[in-house]
Amino acid sequence: MTNSMETDKQTVVFSKEIPVRYTVDVFVGGGGPAGTAAAIAAGRAGCSVFLAEGAGCLGGMGTAGLVPLYMPHTDGEHELCGGIGREIMQRMHKAGGGRYHHGDSIDAELLKRTSDELVLDAGVTLSLHTHVVDVHAENGTIRDVILWGKSGLFAVRAQVYLDCTGDGDVCVLAGAEYEKGDETGAMMAGTLCSQWEGIRWDGRDDTPQAAYEPPEMLWQGEAIPQAVEDGVLSVDDRHLPGIWRTGETSGGGNVGHAFGVDNTDEVSVTQALVEQRRRLTEYETYYRRYVPGFENARLVASADTMGIRESRRIVCDYQLCAEDYRRRAVFPDEIGRFNYPVDRHAATAELADHAAFEEEFYHRYTRGESYGLPYRMLLPRGLTNALVAGKCAGTDKSMQASVRVMACCYIMGQAAGTAAALSVQLDCSPRQIPVDRLQQILRANGAYLPDNPANG
Ligand SMILES: Cc1cc2nc3c(=O)[nH]c(=O)nc-3n(C[C@H](O)[C@H](O)[C@H](O)COP(=O)(O)OP(=O)(O)OC[C@H]3O[C@@H](n4cnc5c(N)ncnc54)[C@H](O)[C@@H]3O)c2cc1C
Repeated sequence: MTNSMETDKQTVVFSKEIPVRYTVDVFVGGGGPAGTAAAIAAGRAGCSVFLAEGAGCLGGMGTAGLVPLYMPHTDGEHELCGGIGREIMQRMHKAGGGRYHHGDSIDAELLKRTSDELVLDAGVTLSLHTHVVDVHAENGTIRDVILWGKSGLFAVRAQVYLDCTGDGDVCVLAGAEYEKGDETGAMMAGTLCSQWEGIRWDGRDDTPQAAYEPPEMLWQGEAIPQAVEDGVLSVDDRHLPGIWRTGETSGGGNVGHAFGVDNTDEVSVTQALVEQRRRLTEYETYYRRYVPGFENARLVASADTMGIRESRRIVCDYQLCAEDYRRRAVFPDEIGRFNYPVDRHAATAELADHAAFEEEFYHRYTRGESYGLPYRMLLPRGLTNALVAGKCAGTDKSMQASVRVMACCYIMGQAAGTAAALSVQLDCSPRQIPVDRLQQILRANGAYLPDNPANG
């Protein structure tokens, strides 16, 4: 018998000639909210686009990860996600989805189909179950990406490469710098989201807005201390986002934290998935026993993919920071504006009570307020022909906890795809495109880019 640990110190040199199967204008790695919007934007602008997605569907955390709802995409007065993100949500409403939480609960099945349709309508070459495994780069310029699918390894060659993997895989493989976690490397906990049935919702105010007010936020979690004492819950985790309404008797679960999970380490992810699947059965008992309305609730399924809130942050020409949130920053090169608070989930169970993150979390904007998203936060430092969008774009740790929500990822993705197309048209690096031209195009396509953001 061979102990796999004994082979740790051995190495193998791996070299293989593989086909360049596609040559395109724009390559997009990852088809979550950022990658979907990026591919659609570049495709609609007339570029040939190849989109590689590791999972079997588009949508990222909202589909494979079963995250049950979109956080708000307006500042109460303006539609901040007015482009492709809004189009996706409106299409889903028309098809009868998203009827709860002011129309923004996610029907994962519908989001998968809607994303497929829009991506294919934009002329994008879509390849599912296709992973970016390496990058061939020279002096900061990406020459090819190496992909793996069931047919084997192959390369895609493009003029511009967009990293929307959520982990910054493309940029890191090309040699870009990145940050991860706090000064000790600690990151926000993940959550294995889930689908539930048999819930009696009547009379409950289950809107996300209600959930953010402190007393209601604890409503499903009130009995946690008792359940820990009773031995029902094995981890004393006082922060329970909850089960959100998705249908007449169904709910989307954002319950239980996977502390210490690192999405750039498959051993860590495997352990977290196995452990969280076990712990979801504890929550099933918890809900049935202690939470009114859930007496007959049943856990239907957990997500295929671990829910990852935080991973690598690529070092870009600008790192959006907490101070930018406080000062409602305005940037000359902004590609959109956003307003979601710094929504931190603690790194350990001990810290997972409200006091730990209350100060930043509850520093919420009032109606009409927002902060700018500068184009520079999409430009990975040291890379000449790449852009990054989504939860791994250029931010500090605090701001990652704001920009990571899906509406903002759509905004960043659309901007990155549009910028990539412009750089192809002008035959220059994304860093050299005229930003005022980018802003004009984005504005024409629904982006919220007021002339004077201070006045809305
Ligand atoms: C538990 C949890 C709850 C959340 N709750 C909310 C909420 O209520 N509302 C909200 O708006 N947001 C919520 N979020 C945040 C939001 O869902 C994510 O931050 C958002 O989806 C990030 O979008 P993205 O496109 O950057 O990355 P992702 O959605 O993570 O998509 C990245 C995609 O890239 C693919 N990929 C990764 N690596 C590779 C590779 N090497 N090759 C090919 N493909 C690759 C992945 O399969 C995935 O499809 C939540 C997140 C979590 C984890």
